[in-house]
Amino acid sequence: MPVECQNDTRFIADRMLGTLTRYLRFMGYDTESANSLEEGNTKEDTLLLGMAKEQHRILLTRDAELARRAQGQAIYLRSEDVMDQVQQLIDYRVIERRLTLSRCSLCNTKLREANTCEIERTGYAPRDWRSTRFYWCEQCHKLYWNGSHGKQLETRIGTERNEESNNLP
Ligand SMILES: [Zn+2]
Repeated sequence: MPVECQNDTRFIADRMLGTLTRYLRFMGYDTESANSLEEGNTKEDTLLLGMAKEQHRILLTRDAELARRAQGQAIYLRSEDVMDQVQQLIDYRVIERRLTLSRCSLCNTKLREANTCEIERTGYAPRDWRSTRFYWCEQCHKLYWNGSHGKQLETRIGTERNEESNNLP
């Protein structure tokens, strides 16, 4: 299984933060999204506040008023840029710079290692896959691997392998 720490902070993100939500999931953080709720609920803010409280999640929002209402249970994200948003959360020490590929970016489900059937049945898997590690979302039936896509994200998020090994005790 991909590595994920038990005591990680959990999040719930508002509708403005779809990209950040995907990035946090790639980074292994349990992140629910307002985008998975039905649209058009006029009391959505109250619903999000309630979910944050009940599920012990930090509410991430681009809405300063909503952040204020959360009374310490929310983080107001200053920038529209996803990399600035990631950096702000790192600066606040609520997340670490890392890439785990341990959660589905679409639905937040924990991924497990994919079996040969699943890899072979998936048309978009790279043809030469024997040296690659694959992960599977049982909810979406989506295959993940740390190929070129993972590499790109890794570069963006800044988790270079050697940086990681330097941090080992
Ligand atoms: Zn999924």
